[in-house]
Amino acid sequence: MRHKLAVGNWKMNGSTSALSEIDALIPLLPDTPPHVVICPPAPLLFRASEAVHGTAITIGAQDCHMQASGAYTGDISAAMIADTGATHVIVGHSERRAAHEESNSDVRAKAAQAWSAGLKTIICIGESDEDRAADNTLDIIAGQLSGSLSDGATGANTVIAYEPIWAIGTGKVPSLDQIIEVHDFIRARLIDRFGDAIADVIPLLYGGSVKPDNAETIFRAKNVDGALVGGASLKASDFAPIISALARI
Ligand code: PEP
Repeated sequence: MRHKLAVGNWKMNGSTSALSEIDALIPLLPDTPPHVVICPPAPLLFRASEAVHGTAITIGAQDCHMQASGAYTGDISAAMIADTGATHVIVGHSERRAAHEESNSDVRAKAAQAWSAGLKTIICIGESDEDRAADNTLDIIAGQLSGSLSDGATGANTVIAYEPIWAIGTGKVPSLDQIIEVHDFIRARLIDRFGDAIADVIPLLYGGSVKPDNAETIFRAKNVDGALVGGASLKASDFAPIISALARI
């Protein structure tokens, strides 16, 4: 059985005072919550891990370096992230692919480091609006999926997030048919490459302008196992109803 997952990506938002949003979220969790991962900025990882101890929430980082250690001023290794108590790391978010020119092979190398440090990776893929307008969405997804995932991917170490770039932070959401088409396609590619047993247990998240009022409809789609949520994860009062919607599915 695949597990359901709600991931919050705080991006470069929040200081220690934002930890109060985690404290506020805990009592709002449903009785049988899905797994929740909150990815705050790196300086908050340790404090956030302490704050969620003993709850259904664990903590993730937003990126890690592709090398284990060394002369990489300002970067953070996967082992350092694991040392804070975090369980997950996002790799290949479109904002990093664009602003830091991260390639599929960089993403694969980062995932390998994350796995060796015992972290689960949330690997992001998604098309631009130009790709979609040119009817290239599935080709782009196929290329990113095969290039970013290495052969060691399993349901225990990998989550895939489909995030159309044009839907991130814009309030635009693909139609349900568009989400289903891409998620079905990803699942089929995973089955081709890894076989049913592995492919069936890799969770597929949708990300891009998920809000309390659209979450449940998206979660009811086949092959959608949860969401990667940006803006609406910053406030407990927005993130809690999304988590509850996932718990109802
Ligand atoms: C994201 O940053 O991954 C994201 C999906 O952001 P938002 O929910 O704000 O669109």
